[in-house]
Amino acid sequence: MTVTISSDVLDFIRAAAAASRGAEICGLLLGEGNRVVAARPCANISSEPWHRFEIDPVALIAAHRAARGGGPAVLGHYHSHPTGLAEPSARDAADAAPDGAIWLIAGGGRVTGWRAVAMGRRHGRFDPVTLACAEPPVAPERDASSRDFA
Ligand SMILES: [Zn+2]
Repeated sequence: MTVTISSDVLDFIRAAAAASRGAEICGLLLGEGNRVVAARPCANISSEPWHRFEIDPVALIAAHRAARGGGPAVLGHYHSHPTGLAEPSARDAADAAPDGAIWLIAGGGRVTGWRAVAMGRRHGRFDPVTLACAEPPVAPERDASSRDFA
């Protein structure tokens, strides 16, 4: 699977991750199909944010509601590993629902892509996703209150 994403969005995630040494950052990936057009930073509401992430459900619900109203789809999410590698941790595997969501993981200055797949596979519950960098697309329509990075 290949996911197209603008280099600006990738740079944003990489920089946000590098700037947060003590806690995992997280947010939503918005777009259509296999094309991520924006990253929406969300609060990490985990009680152990230094090694876990939990996206603020209020933001998640709002994004799904907006998608139903014609906004960009919620394709997945991103988070960082402040002291770890850019690959799924055992905790990530335990928390992942096999829903096909795209996961971007930032760590060590890199951002990698993964897809949560059906449980019980020999090689775990994530398939690697190839990230194809696209030039920054035409900015999607958005309302004035949007905090998306696109
Ligand atoms: Zn993780």
